This record gives sequence, C-alpha cells and structure tokens, in this order.
Amino acid sequence: MQHFAIVTFGCQMNQHDSDRIGEVLRGAGLSEVSEPEAADFVLLNTCSVREKAEQKLRSEVGRLGVLKRERPGLVIGVAGCVAQQEGERLMKRLPQIDLMIGPDNIPELPALLADCVAGGPPRVRTEFDVEAPSFLAHSIAYGPSAGRAPSAFVTVMKGCNERCSFCIVPYTRGPERYRPAHEILDEIAQLTEAGVREVTLLGQTVNSYSDPAGLFAPPVLEGAGKWQGAGEWQGAGEWQHTEHERARADESEFPELLRAIARRAPGLARLRYTSPHPRHLTRSLIRAHAELGVLCRHVHMPVQSGSDRMLKRMIRRYTAAEYLERVTALKAAVPGLTLSTDIIVGFPGESRSDFEATLDLVERAGFVGVFAFKYSQRPFTPALKLGDDVSEAEKSARLAELFEVSNAQRHTHLNSLQGSEVEVLVEGRGKAGQWGGRSERNEIVHFASPYELLGRLVRVRVLRANKNSLFGELADAISDAEPLSTTVSSELGEPAAAKPLRRLPLSPV
Ligand code: SAM
Repeated sequence: MQHFAIVTFGCQMNQHDSDRIGEVLRGAGLSEVSEPEAADFVLLNTCSVREKAEQKLRSEVGRLGVLKRERPGLVIGVAGCVAQQEGERLMKRLPQIDLMIGPDNIPELPALLADCVAGGPPRVRTEFDVEAPSFLAHSIAYGPSAGRAPSAFVTVMKGCNERCSFCIVPYTRGPERYRPAHEILDEIAQLTEAGVREVTLLGQTVNSYSDPAGLFAPPVLEGAGKWQGAGEWQGAGEWQHTEHERARADESEFPELLRAIARRAPGLARLRYTSPHPRHLTRSLIRAHAELGVLCRHVHMPVQSGSDRMLKRMIRRYTAAEYLERVTALKAAVPGLTLSTDIIVGFPGESRSDFEATLDLVERAGFVGVFAFKYSQRPFTPALKLGDDVSEAEKSARLAELFEVSNAQRHTHLNSLQGSEVEVLVEGRGKAGQWGGRSERNEIVHFASPYELLGRLVRVRVLRANKNSLFGELADAISDAEPLSTTVSSELGEPAAAKPLRRLPLSPV
C-alpha cells in the first residue's frame, strides 16, 4: 500500500477533514496522488447535508467498483457524514466499500487500513468522541514557505446542538464539543510563524464557542436573575443587557476567543469565522468586530428564510426582525462590512408570500453573496414530519428568482469598487498564470504580475468587475520579490481557479 487519493464532496468542514486525513496517511508513510486511478487506497470523503452530495457518492463508488474488478487489491473507503449516517447499511448496499470511518475516527485510519490490507473483514468505525473529544491540528508544513496557500482553517468546535428542523448535522457530527482555547491559540501561533496570514475559525455554530478548560470563565456575578443556561434563546432581552450582564445573557465566549487570538498572534493579518448562528451575534461580538482590526469586514451569517412562519418551522429561534436588527447593528459598528448568507427555498409549507418575505430580507440586509439551496428531506430530521409539499419546479423557479436578486446586488457592489484600491492576500495562480486572492471583504480579485507573490498582501487597483470577481492591476511598487519564470497574460476574463484557490468562496459550512 503506497499511494492514496482523497475525493471530497461537500463543505469546507469536509475539505478541512480531508486535509487532516491526508496528513494522517502521509504520517503513516503513504504518499498522495491526485487521480484515484493511480491510487491503492481511495477515500471518498462525503457530505449528507443536502441530497445531491449523497447521490454523487453512490455514482463515485460505482465508478471505483469497475476499477476494483480490474485491480482487486484496491481499497475503497468512505469517510465523513454519509459514513456516519449510513454505516453498515450502506456497506451492505455497496459491497465494493472496504471501510467506513466517521469524522471522529480519523486517527484510527492507518490501523484500519493495515487490517484491511492484511485480509481483515470490512470495517465500520463511526463512534463520536463525546467523552474525550480530540481535534486534529495542522501539520507544521504549512504556509507559503511550504508552497501552500497562506490561509488556513482552524477548528474551534465540532457538532451542533441547534436541532434546526431541516438539518442532519447534529446526527452526523454529534453534539457540540469545544476545543480547548490553549490548543486553538497554540495552533494559530504556529501557523502564523510558518507564514500563514489568514485564519478562518471553523465550526457548525462557531460563535457558540466556550472554552472547556475555563480560560475565559466570567466572574460569578451576584444577584442577577436572567441567566438561562446552555442554548436558551433570550429574544430581544439579551439585546438590552448591559456589558456587566453579558455573560449571563449569552454563554458564548467567542468574542473572548477572538480577542485572545489577536493578542497571541500579532503577526496574523486576517481573522475570519464560519458559520456563525445569528442568535449568538451578541453586542459583545459586535464590539469585538469594532475593536479588532484583524477581524475581516465580512461576515457570513446564515438566515435560511425571511419569513417568521418558516423560521419557526425551521426552529431557528430568531425572527426576521431580530436578524435584521443584529446585522444592522454590526454594519453600523463596522463601516463597510459586507454580509453573505445561506437560504433554503421550498421548505415545507413555504407559500409565495413566505418566499417574498425572503426576497425582501435579502434586499434589506444588502447581502453581497447568497448561497441558496432547494430544500431536500434528510433522514432523522424533525422536518420529515412536515412533508415536502413545494414542487421541484416551484423550488427551481424560486431559486432562480432569488439568484437573480442576489446576483444583481453582488454586481452592484462589485461595480461600486471600480477605480478603488483593495488589499489582496495572494492565494495562488489561475490557469492562465494570473494571480488570485481575496480582499479583506471577501471579494475574489485577479491581477497579473510577473513577480512571485504567493502569500503576500498587496494593493490592487480595480479595473473592472466581472460577474463574480474583480480584475485589477498591482498598485504597489514591488521591489523585493523574485521574478516568475513563466509569462502571465495581462488581460483576462473570469479565469478558472488553479488548485491553490480551491478554498474560494468562503462558505457554507
Ligand atoms: N451552521 C449552519 C447554520 O447556521 O444553519 C448550517 C450549516 S449547513 C451544513 C450548510 C447549509 O446547508 C445550511 O445553512 C442550509 O442553508 C443548507 N441546508 C442544510 N440542510 C438542508 C436541507 N435539508 N435542504 C437544503 N439545504 C439545507
């Protein structure tokens, strides 16, 4: 067993898991190949949040099954949410699979693989590490000096306690478990020392974070009666609370974590997080945004619907007005901050007027990016009881209408940047050789330069707005960079991204 390949479906969390799986396998002496055809072990890392990704897995297993008939020694593994959700049932239906591994069992992979190669039976390992949660850190070979992108994801929590009625995540990723703050701070400090300039904190409800080791434990306050304990929605009540009472109104210690990162890693240029839950967008978090220069002026805040009736059925625990009140306060505290969101169309019972409330909210919030999905029924979820009464044709029509509105808003925003200068963290080169990266506000920016700029923060003058990105020219005089050996086209349209840019765009998790 020498070569492995990982095929990833789904969200950034899955991509992050794939990166960790790769590190574990390399640590066990295997080397990675990009094509499954050249591998002895192919691992399909899956997502089951929406139905489509699951269908992709089935067709990929079928394709690999043909390869396995030619090469019986090929080992096929399935990791991630589908493995967790389906386990042995899927193995019975797809006997080509040799091993299945849940998100919490990644460290066991080399031993399971060795067992498999030695002729052991098919194995399924999908236990949640609820008792003693562990979090795999990045290997140190990271950042531009290792030829890698200058940005990294850092997991701060896993699982989800929200129980939104449409969502399978609590069943595939288990209950919320938080990573000790000292581990997060150490990892970020090591990454910045290795040249990483941008860190994105990762978690399903990332802003519900609290440190299990108690680093940020608030002082015990006398005589206050509002504290409701874990996960209790306070409605507008929290919003009126004074700073002194903050810790009682929302138990999240996320703002404290952000402040601690800013102190511990002064070399970090940009800090982002995904995905937050609107009910933990507290005044304290807004204040952190206003005070910490390292926090990027872009937030991805899933709203799911603009209709209170739908939000209630989705068990989101906020109203459209509360969502708007909070993001409006955030925008007021951080001038120029941009917002993006996730939206589900065609949730059971969604009428035309519910959908119009969503369109209205999209306009009022001024989102510059919308990740929208047609509702699909997922196993185990409470919404199964509500049926699936919006037709496929109606879901497609609403999705198209929503994209029309949100694309127009993004285009207006991108056009407004023509002639301005944006600071770009250079993440990699596109197929035509031009550089690409993101601005602080998450706009994708391409420009041409004959210099080696990977990992640098440069100023780019915006010449034109494409459909989803900006194109510009270097505004900085570059005197200390190596010239590139390949030529770069200076006039480009919207290019296909090369490998280092695969992390764009930010969301959804
Ligand atoms: N943490 C996020 C939140 O606050 O809701 C959830 C992340 S989920 C993995 C990514 C997105 O997938 C969700 O925000 C939602 O828009 C979409 N999604 C989840 N379940 C879905 C379903 N059953 N059908 C369609 N879209 C779904």
